Amino acid sequence: MKSINKGYINGEFVTLNGTQIFDLINPTNHQKIGEVTLGDEKDVQLAVAAAKKSFESFSKTSIEERINLLKNLKAAVSKKENELIEVMILEYGGTRQFCTMSVQNALASFDNAIETLQHFEFQRTAGHTLVQMTPVGVVGIITPWNSSNSFICSKLATAIAAGCTVVVKPSEMSALQTQLLTECFHEAGLPKGLYNMVNGLGNVVGSAITNHPDIAKISFTGSTVTGKQIAKSAVDTVKRVTLELGGKSPNIILEDADFNQAIPQAVFGAYMNSGQACIAPTRLLVPKSKLQEVNEIAKAAAEQVVVGNPGNQATNVGPMVSEKQYERVQSYIQIGLDEGATLLTGGVGKPEGLEDGNFVKATIFTNVRNNMRIAQEEIFGPVLSIIPYENEADAIAIANDTVYGLAAYVTSADESRAVSVASQIDAGRVCINGFKHDPLAPFGGFKQSGIGREFGAFGLEEYLEPKSIIL
Ligand code: NAD
Repeated sequence: MKSINKGYINGEFVTLNGTQIFDLINPTNHQKIGEVTLGDEKDVQLAVAAAKKSFESFSKTSIEERINLLKNLKAAVSKKENELIEVMILEYGGTRQFCTMSVQNALASFDNAIETLQHFEFQRTAGHTLVQMTPVGVVGIITPWNSSNSFICSKLATAIAAGCTVVVKPSEMSALQTQLLTECFHEAGLPKGLYNMVNGLGNVVGSAITNHPDIAKISFTGSTVTGKQIAKSAVDTVKRVTLELGGKSPNIILEDADFNQAIPQAVFGAYMNSGQACIAPTRLLVPKSKLQEVNEIAKAAAEQVVVGNPGNQATNVGPMVSEKQYERVQSYIQIGLDEGATLLTGGVGKPEGLEDGNFVKATIFTNVRNNMRIAQEEIFGPVLSIIPYENEADAIAIANDTVYGLAAYVTSADESRAVSVASQIDAGRVCINGFKHDPLAPFGGFKQSGIGREFGAFGLEEYLEPKSIIL
């Protein structure tokens, strides 16, 4: 059992002022695996003061110095790659497959920041004016529990590239992985006060960050509900906000697609990170005329899905992060039944033999109408909705009929047709013919899926203020 009772402020692990303890519970078997002391407003004050002081010098560093730091960070985190994967599996029940990818993404974020820096123009001209891209200031970074380490690494890497300093508040459910990461950052020899971390609750440490006048920007990843609260509290000090929020991503399979390939891919994609992924393709849109065929292939694919111990290499779906999240997913499965959707496979209750953890049956509803709650609301569990459409225009209309707009997927034998459909979908990222990731392309949401973009040059600009010097 690990006890984490310190935060990281001004280059040191320090005892926090806060005294409240949060138990860390293994979601696979409900055993206590550790506890974390939660910080309070005073801890945030100290962390922000350290970051503010550090900003005075760090904002003036050269590109070369920042690149060196990013290289050192990557080297330090690389040494703990396997340990990080194990801690993630233990702490939130992420599957080995997903946690491995997540840690690789975390490592790649340092390379991506370096590559972006090498091509980025900090001095530009507009008209006859010199435009300097200057670091925005101290950035408050608030992250969720799903893939926490990759969010912290990518946001920190971007902040460093920009010349900003940070105060991080991870999810209280990610304390073990954040501790390990912080030890890596410490070993990398960051300038004092560049990176500060305070564990704590959203309504205490989180809101102290969003309200703090010396924080210039918030970079938040989490739910749309919390994102709205953060945007409201950021208004008082006119903070810049980047909000990466929830999604209900449509996956349109056009009638010319290879269904034997596309449908199993869609099923496994929806169960990415045990369904706890903002970009999971949770609404599968298929031609009405092919619904029967789709149902058969989807059911057969779901039977191949391995639900169980997240540490096993073959497992596709592990437990939900917490009992609360388990209950939430169960309630949505019941809502789907009550709304009259057809249960194709899965359903309420735990899979046999997995009663000790927060396990949910890999579930598929079919004959779902897009106005049902299971099609409109983010469930964040292994629950897929199959929605029939009449024709291409209907598919696009259904895809766009949601408050979200984070990701979308289109599959077709004709790439130009797929691109034409993609260009009509209101989403920040549309993948053609399967799940794809380009770490230098802008990532973020339309509509209530967020504000701003991350990654590459677009992501870096969010940490910079253009200053016009008119000669
Ligand atoms: P959450 O919104 O409950 O919490 C996220 C973080 O915000 C946590 O650290 C939490 O403590 C903090 N927080 C809560 N209330 C706060 C407040 N009032 N002020 C400041 N901070 C506060 O989200 P979660 O359950 O941890 O994560 C799941 C959600 O995250 C899902 O909705 C998912 O779609 C979303 N998500 C989005 C992306 C993306 O890139 N768009 C990626 C991953 C997860």
